[in-house]
Amino acid sequence: PAEQHNLDEPFTIGCQDVSKLVTRPRENAVLVMLARNSELQEARATIRNVEDKFNKWFKYPVLFLNNEPWSEEFMRVMKETVSGEAKFEVIPEGIWGPTEGLTEEVMNKYLKQQEADGVYKGQIAGYHHMCRFYSGEFYSLEALKEYKYYWRLEPGVSYSCSLTYDPFLEMARRGKKYGYTVALWEEPNTCPSLFRAVDEFRTQNNIPMHPNWKAMIDTETNWLLKPAPIRWLLGKMLRREHYNIKGEKWNLCHYWSNFEIADLDFFRGDQYQRLFKHLDKSGGFYRERWGDAPVHSLAVHLLLEAKELHHFSDIGYYHHPFWQCPQNAKGRQLLDDVMIGEASQKMTEEQEGGFGCRCECGLGNSDDFRMRNNRGICLERMQQPAAWTRASWWD
Ligand code: GDP
Ligand code: MN
Repeated sequence: PAEQHNLDEPFTIGCQDVSKLVTRPRENAVLVMLARNSELQEARATIRNVEDKFNKWFKYPVLFLNNEPWSEEFMRVMKETVSGEAKFEVIPEGIWGPTEGLTEEVMNKYLKQQEADGVYKGQIAGYHHMCRFYSGEFYSLEALKEYKYYWRLEPGVSYSCSLTYDPFLEMARRGKKYGYTVALWEEPNTCPSLFRAVDEFRTQNNIPMHPNWKAMIDTETNWLLKPAPIRWLLGKMLRREHYNIKGEKWNLCHYWSNFEIADLDFFRGDQYQRLFKHLDKSGGFYRERWGDAPVHSLAVHLLLEAKELHHFSDIGYYHHPFWQCPQNAKGRQLLDDVMIGEASQKMTEEQEGGFGCRCECGLGNSDDFRMRNNRGICLERMQQPAAWTRASWWD
């Protein structure tokens, strides 16, 4: 009962009878995977897994994207593995590539600096291209024009529960525009000026500071309210990272974008595309190493209503080195992990099988980090009653 505690509830509890749900027409949606030919094995493993847990019932098309021509082998193997239609696209030149006006020489200088600064993957040109591509150009692809929703996959990720309902259909039914699984803090040195650039866009366009946006801001550093000497000190900090011009600090929260189920119309809409162009022009995709995940997350918080976000707490998901395992998933090891407060306590006995369906996670299978209470630091401030907030949210 979402009204009771204002929680973003899972779309369903437990397993559904899929045969009753697989109806035509489906939602206008596509699974998308950007990959390289060299990632064939990982890509195949992921597609097999997604087919097994979901797509063998729903048979959505899978669109494979590459900045280079696909190898015959990659296409052959994927056609065999996907139950729906497998589509292969080569990203046109000019879309995959540096920001307009950036010379090779300057770009290499930036990459060297980032290598020296220990920025995660900051020295890899292709990684910058990928982040910039997924931040903006992706949404203008001809191949996506016909679709309304996408589900993003990556080689090597895996799903540990069956998804026995159609997430696109539920997104549409409930007016959801962005769905995520894992929320984390961004590596600070990848994006020192990102928040300022986004907030600049907000100011220039008179976009109001609604609670959704404020949830991304660390209000403890709201220096305007503090006495003069402290203000002076904090004023010096303005030159430091992640502050906007008013001294508000981004809490670095972002939704991991290697999983996304989202509404393409939001991202190809005028507001988001203008934001992307603003960011691109400011140069940060190369001068720094802005990831598409924080760009998407800041945009979502700036431009969407809280009720348009959805945390897929029922999806078991793994991307090295983090995984999410649904609450009460059968086989979960540590029972105290299952509680996130009232919602769990109110679950009835038949629901106690879990939010997810036939989950295989939680069996203590690795050294990887297990996400706990992973509604995450972004949404938590916005939607959960104060009593539920915690200092620590993972193991
Ligand atoms: P990380 O998870 O952020 O460390 O980055 P990944 O290495 O997993 O890359 C993210 C996604 O972009 C994956 O789907 C990769 O296959 C893809 N990717 C990254 N770089 C390239 C590239 O140069 N070419 C292509 N075609 N795909 C890339
Ligand atoms: Mn990855």
